[in-house]
Amino acid sequence: MSHPHPELKAPPTLPRNGLRVVALGGLGEVGRNMAVLEHRGKLLIIDCGVLFPEEHQPGVDVILPDFSFLQGRWQDVVGVVLTHGHEDHIGGVPYLLRERGDIPVVGSRLTLAFISAKLKEHRIKPRTTQVAEGDRLNLGPFDCEFVAVNHSIPDGLAVMVRTSAGSVLHTGDFKMDQFPLDDRITDLRAFARLGEEGVDLFMVDSTNAEVPGFTTAEKDLGPAIDTVFRTAPGRIVVSSFASHVHRIQQVLDAAAAHKRKVAFVGRSMVRNMKIAQDLGYLKVPRGLVVDAKALDDLPPTKVTLVCTGSQGEPMAALSRMANRDHQIHVGEGDTVLLASSLIPGNENAVSRIINGLTRWGAKVVHQGNAKVHVSGHASAGELVYCYNIIQPRNVMPVHGEWRHLRANADLAIATGMHPDNVVVVDDGMVVDLVDGRVKVTGKVRAGYVYVSAGAVGDVTEDELRDRLTLSQQGTVTVVALVDADSGKLTEPPDFLARGLGTDEKMFDAAIPAIEKALADAASQGIGDPHELEQRIARAVSQWAFRKHRRNPLVVPVVIEA
Ligand SMILES: [Zn+2]
Repeated sequence: MSHPHPELKAPPTLPRNGLRVVALGGLGEVGRNMAVLEHRGKLLIIDCGVLFPEEHQPGVDVILPDFSFLQGRWQDVVGVVLTHGHEDHIGGVPYLLRERGDIPVVGSRLTLAFISAKLKEHRIKPRTTQVAEGDRLNLGPFDCEFVAVNHSIPDGLAVMVRTSAGSVLHTGDFKMDQFPLDDRITDLRAFARLGEEGVDLFMVDSTNAEVPGFTTAEKDLGPAIDTVFRTAPGRIVVSSFASHVHRIQQVLDAAAAHKRKVAFVGRSMVRNMKIAQDLGYLKVPRGLVVDAKALDDLPPTKVTLVCTGSQGEPMAALSRMANRDHQIHVGEGDTVLLASSLIPGNENAVSRIINGLTRWGAKVVHQGNAKVHVSGHASAGELVYCYNIIQPRNVMPVHGEWRHLRANADLAIATGMHPDNVVVVDDGMVVDLVDGRVKVTGKVRAGYVYVSAGAVGDVTEDELRDRLTLSQQGTVTVVALVDADSGKLTEPPDFLARGLGTDEKMFDAAIPAIEKALADAASQGIGDPHELEQRIARAVSQWAFRKHRRNPLVVPVVIEA
């Protein structure tokens, strides 16, 4: 088993007979999936997703992979293969194409339809190549073959990448539902054929590797969804991902069976469901779906609303309904169905929404009290099948937090793989395949890149820390007039405090600490106002913590008098 080494440096030049794999996201986290394959000077990208912020990342829209590994090498990129249309696999593409607009974007029909609609909002027209299972496509030195996989969005693909240095089979996200709504199962026959041919590196979805057994079928949710529709005394509000076509299909079927109308609410839900319907992935009985405004004329027992926000996203419809900040007022008699998974990290936000909705009198049905969700990812039993069918030479678990990657690696080893052939790595670690053997050879930058108020990379880790400090500890501004010659205060500084829950006068007691900091600076011949500001900030911070166990954000302003 390979372990990450913090001392790892930039990798050596890749030998001509080598294949390099660098995950810029998705390892050690759920989201922001992105892998870069390098061979003979060319680069192939597999997926480019976003990660959604958590509560400790205030003001962040989404988190992108760090593209600095690709800086100066954009012309070497031969394409980006998208395995499926989930945001954590395609959400970063608009930002990728800002770097180089003509990178070929490769994916299945539905995936390309979703990404193209998204790119249109960014006013980007991509160069797309549509592929389907069974297709082969040469992208530079990478010979790609696509394999059908089943997931919580239709039209998912795994990709086999053949190069002269060896082959990589990347599953994308997948599970092995044997009775999917669209009858399109994960193609184990292809997996077996590719295994027979020889898979040098198997990159496998780890999201559910800790879950024993098998992921149950999407169709198994039918009865629970039907129960909601049979028993709901008033309106039904269903919240799901805007991409979960099959889940929403089940909701539409139940609505039709119980003679209710359906309206889609929210921009992404309306957009994606129209795409899915136009392309035939979503079957909508005539007259079933109506405009949200038309629901006003119907009795509550005839109404179904389908919206986003099942992860507690603050701007999504459901969260705004829970806050009574939406034109649809959810209340007594309404039933809210949270028909999707709970992504780790979102528990508090979702719990707040459930509390908000129930406080207004709604009944909330969710995965904690009814069988209204199945996962989109293969559980341990399915993964073991894959290892045994494919018998890869080397394995690299992808997509998941460290515990998921580790659990997936253990499954591979349990099927008889030698631990040396199973490589568990974090984002940015460089894995080279040379002569059929994998080795960790270095590390590249793969930190978070924040999109905040639409701007990429303006908000740094330091500034995010400031935001957190501001929100939790408040702020104090210190305005100090300093004599340019003596370096001393010309009068007592002004303190302006916000969010501290205390009197600003408290800080008058910090003046001696400021005077001492200035005297120390003067004795070292330091008079630069910026440096003096840093020293005042440090002095006030230390004083506030020592004397009051407080840790406000200190904003120093030095004016030379
Ligand atoms: Zn997915």
